[in-house]
This record gives sequence, structure tokens and C-alpha cells, in this order.
Amino acid sequence: MAAFDHMVAATPGFRSRTGQRDMAQAITTTLAGVDLGAHDEPNRAIAVIQAGTGVGKSAAYAATLVPMAQARKTRLLISTATVALQEQLMTKDLPALAAVLPTPFTYALAKGRARYVCKLKLEQWSGLPGVNSVEMFEADEDVPPSPSTLARASGKSQDPDERRMELFDSLAQALANGSWNGDRDQLAEQPDGQDWALVAAERHTCTVRHCPRFRQCSYYQARNALAEADVIVANHDLVLASLGMKTLPDLDNCLIVFDEGHHLPAVALDQFSSSMDLSNLRWLDRLPRIMLEVGEKMHSELGEDVTTLARDLKAALHDLGRLMMDLLRSTVVGYDGTQRWPSGVLPEALHEPVALALRLATSLAKVLDDLGAAIKLLARDDPSQALHCSMLYARLGPL
Ligand code: SF4
Repeated sequence: MAAFDHMVAATPGFRSRTGQRDMAQAITTTLAGVDLGAHDEPNRAIAVIQAGTGVGKSAAYAATLVPMAQARKTRLLISTATVALQEQLMTKDLPALAAVLPTPFTYALAKGRARYVCKLKLEQWSGLPGVNSVEMFEADEDVPPSPSTLARASGKSQDPDERRMELFDSLAQALANGSWNGDRDQLAEQPDGQDWALVAAERHTCTVRHCPRFRQCSYYQARNALAEADVIVANHDLVLASLGMKTLPDLDNCLIVFDEGHHLPAVALDQFSSSMDLSNLRWLDRLPRIMLEVGEKMHSELGEDVTTLARDLKAALHDLGRLMMDLLRSTVVGYDGTQRWPSGVLPEALHEPVALALRLATSLAKVLDDLGAAIKLLARDDPSQALHCSMLYARLGPL
């Protein structure tokens, strides 16, 4: 509590409210005995606190937990549900606290990968030399042709494509001359979502260390900066998505605050569930074609007849969709239009069709994984192929 009282005394005009001090006291008492790191039977400590608007919650937890993290030589991770609260922490609460605490501390905002540009993709789209001649996104029905290609083919620029080409050229130049760090939120004007999606950093298309642009990669540079920070501000989505992914520091070793924690259940449901549109299965036509094409470029045998597997999977999912519609018609769906089965147990009628779809999908996924692993291996063993490999990997990624 001494740290909280110090913050109150040292901040001009700050008047602590009763609820706020109670909250700081509850946090201090609860977390004082927590075990951090690996222990056989760790002493876990969780304080669940509900406090109304205006109590000054962020000041209460930050003023107590930043010094506690410093004393325990660990970090504080603050997770929020809204951008507004993140901004308040980054621009108001944490700078104010840093100004009065006796021991300096650093803080950084953790963002999802897709907030950063993928340098490799941007070079391709902006037509910079180096990657232009390599087949990263050859035109297929779901990927729009490169704007450079469009402009060249038509002999004159058309409006949306010209706009996109200009955007990518200007982003590439800003990145190259250091006036932009690759963070979408740092752009004066926000790009169109569809345009940005073409150049956003993405896990599934990234070969990480094997990428020839890894050392200059905006996302990985931002991640390295996070490793230096004493306090990290993130959001619930990112924290839950990072479990087991090493995107954020080891959570067992941090003090963690889930502010706006009442949003956690919905975010968790979103993060740990999957969905599929059974009425749109065209991607299964594209999948074997791209796999065969990449396999050929890798001089790799795929080991399975992916064309037949994909065709059978498409038929199995189609049948499953029809069966689901019959089931839904004959039962009462939930209040929100969702069909839930008691304890999540599927009806007997679905067992066989789901098992068939799973078996086919697993076989295809294995071929895809093996191909991805072969590409990474080649990039590692022969760095002169790294660029080519990164392009092929990016082609497989969306699948
Ligand atoms: S490391 Fe990954 S995200 Fe970064 S430039 Fe390379 S492919 Fe893109």
C-alpha cells in the first residue's frame, strides 16, 4: 500500500476515493503471496474486483502492481477489452504513474500481428525489385491480380486499382525511408480493410526466421521491443490467442490484470471455437490445385492423391450440410438461432458423416503440413532459396 499512498501524495490534485483505496488494499493483500514461475504446487492468487465507473480502478491496480512487479523482478501485463481503455492507459495513467514512481519503468502496447505490415508481401504488391518476378500470389479466382499487373496489362490505370497501387507504393517508400514503422495505427490515413489485408503480417503465410526480410520485419521488431518493457498493455483477444504461442512473455511469470474482465467469457468463446460455412466449399477446388503446383515447384511428391481427397471431402461436407439442415428443421433451435446439444454430445446420425469428414480433412492437412515443413527445411538448408521458399509458403498459408 505504501506505493499507492506514495502515488496519491506525489500526484498534484489527486484525491483517492474510498473504494479505490479498498481496491488497492485487496490487490496488495491477495497478490503478495503469489508464486511466479514453475512450482509443483504454486500458490495461485486471484483477486476478483467489481467497481463502478469513476472509482479510479486503473490507478489503483497500476500504482500497486507496477512496484510489486519491479520488486519481484517480473512484468505486469494489463489486458483490456477496448481500445479506449488501452489509449487511456498508454497516454494518461501509465505516463502519470511513471512521473511519480521513484523507480523508472517502461511500458509498451502489444498488438496483434495483423496490425503490422508484412514487408515481403508489400514488396510484391508494390512491385519493388527483388520479389517481383517470383510467383507469390498468382492470380486465381479468390485473389485479385496484383495492381502492378493490372496496370501493366491495361496500359492505363483504373481507379480502385490505381488507388491500391499508389497506397502500396507510398507504404513501401515510407517503410524504406524510415518515416513509417509498419504499424497500421501509425498511418495518418487508415487504408481500406481489403487493401490492408493483402499486405498484413499473418502467421500462416510467414516462415519467420527463414524469411529473407525477418531482420527488418516490423512485427518482429515490435515484438522484440515488447520483451524489454516492464509493463505490457494488451487486449483479451491477443492474450488468449497467445497462449502457447510465445507471442507475449511467459504468462506464468507475470502479474496479470484483466481489466474489463466481464468481456472475457465472450472473447474466450470466440477464440476457442471454430466455424465453417458448409454452403461455400469452393476453396476445396482450389486447394489441390495449389498444393500440386507448390509440390511441383518444390520437386516434391505429395504422397497422397490430393485431388481425390479434396473432392471426397467436398462431397462429405456437402452431405453433412444437408443432414444438418434436416436435423435443424426437425428440432427446436436455441434462443439465438444456435443448436446446442446437451453436454456437447453429437446426435448419433452425425457420427459417421463427421468422422468421414474428419478423416479426409486430417489426411489433407497432413499433406499440407508436410509440404510446409519441406519448404521451411529447404529455406533453412539453402538460404539462397529463402525468398522463393517464403513465396511458396505464403501461397500455401491461406489454405
Ligand atoms: S517475417 Fe513474416 S511477417 Fe515479417 S516480412 Fe517475413 S513473411 Fe512477412
